Amino acid sequence: MPPITHPTQERYDYVVVGGGSGASGTARRAAIYGKKVAVVEATGVLGGCCVKVGCIPKKIMWYAADMADKLRLATAYNYSPVQPSFDWQTFKPRRDAYVKRLTEAYARNFGKDGVEYHDGWGRLLDKNTVEVTRHDGSTYTLSADYITIATGSRPAVPKDEEIPGAHLGITSDGFFDLETQPKKIVIVGAGYIALELAGVLNALGTETHLAIRYETVLRTFDPMIQTTITDWTEHTGVKIHKNTKVVKVEGTKQGEPVTVHFNTGEKIENADYILWAVGREPVTEDCGLDKVNIKTDAKGNILVDEWQATNVPNIFSIGDCQGKALLTPVAIAAGRRISNRLFGPEKFKEDKLSYENIPTVVFSHPPIGTVGLTEPEARKKFGDENVKIYNTRFKSMFFDFADEVHREPTVYKLIVTGEEEKVVGLHMVGAGSDEALQGFSVAVKMGATKKQFDDTVAIHPTSAEEVVTLR
Ligand code: NDP
Repeated sequence: MPPITHPTQERYDYVVVGGGSGASGTARRAAIYGKKVAVVEATGVLGGCCVKVGCIPKKIMWYAADMADKLRLATAYNYSPVQPSFDWQTFKPRRDAYVKRLTEAYARNFGKDGVEYHDGWGRLLDKNTVEVTRHDGSTYTLSADYITIATGSRPAVPKDEEIPGAHLGITSDGFFDLETQPKKIVIVGAGYIALELAGVLNALGTETHLAIRYETVLRTFDPMIQTTITDWTEHTGVKIHKNTKVVKVEGTKQGEPVTVHFNTGEKIENADYILWAVGREPVTEDCGLDKVNIKTDAKGNILVDEWQATNVPNIFSIGDCQGKALLTPVAIAAGRRISNRLFGPEKFKEDKLSYENIPTVVFSHPPIGTVGLTEPEARKKFGDENVKIYNTRFKSMFFDFADEVHREPTVYKLIVTGEEEKVVGLHMVGAGSDEALQGFSVAVKMGATKKQFDDTVAIHPTSAEEVVTLR
């Protein structure tokens, strides 16, 4: 479906600014209810970061990396030895083609549901008007009863005044542009993206340095996860530089080799790239928020209430640009609920997304799955005397045939509270945790107790069965 280049309605029921997954979720849901809906997307490609430069191409790279890990274990299962050699140059176009197919599916689905796709920059003019600036500079306006801002986020990059030469670095966006595999890279950051990309590159054979400011990665996760994954990531070969800050990047231009200087006095010379993975920032400037006095926080995140409503009652915001739980399925779920509430049947009049117990997975090696409170959060909320911890640490059966050096850890922690031992947190590291978590998170969301976990018959032999047999 090619984009529409002019307004087709005098007034739309709903205009969504941004064309990512959250925008699509809310727009299509509204259209399914028979509403006149327009989506305004500036990049010329629908799907947002998740599809274009995030979850999707990352997961493909994770599969490739996981395959390399498995191939290295071939002899453990009596296959002849395999020395995996990954052809990045020919794989990248295949990955790009796959992503392109998915982005095109967005446009097709808009067509099927009757959502108009307007190709241009969306800017609020007043509380019912969005101006669309097309790529040739021409403009037109869309008038709407309701508007949702879903403009997403972009990777943060330190300023050169802060770290001289910072602009020489790439980000996760640049990672997905790389035509050839880096031989040596310095990744800066300790969150999802830093860990996931470090894991992929290391498994594929890149000399990977990870510079973190403290002792562990993922410092907002349960301490068990922090230490397990930091230790194992180091064990697999990622060179983690702890308690380290980058103070200077030397090089000629972006894409040319760099020397990275740390505050410890150490330097890494001749790295193909330095990659910043130090968080994301909202894309909310020049969206006309000031025209209607929409409130943001100091970082530019749009402030919303529990209904995703801004301080202007008919304008909502979902996804990364509102700064809460930067996860695609959260944006989709929140967006669909706005449309259910505004345009759906009576039974949805109170529909809104609960931000409690959102399950999340980090595609590290091995993967991490987590839902609910961390142990420190649970202790703070309920008091030490009301919190009980069930732990297990073992080697998955798959690795029983592998030599000691390749035996990945699996570690689970269940956090319960009160006499009834209600489960308030589940934290998993180990092969299969990414897939296992979804089902368990239903139970946690429903308020399941430890006894109900125990009453569930184990599926044998699996790793996940250990979650229902904890003592
Ligand atoms: P995160 O917020 O997850 O992590 C960034 C981390 O980098 C910070 O927590 C901080 O850790 C460290 N950091 C911050 N500033 C600096 C600095 N100047 N120098 C060095 N380190 C710094 O951001 P990401 O960019 O990794 O990811 C953004 C979001 O995208 C995530 O929060 C997640 O919601 C989402 N995402 C989800 C994925 C998934 O679902 N699998 C995958 C990828 C992203 P510390 O304080 O310890 O230094």
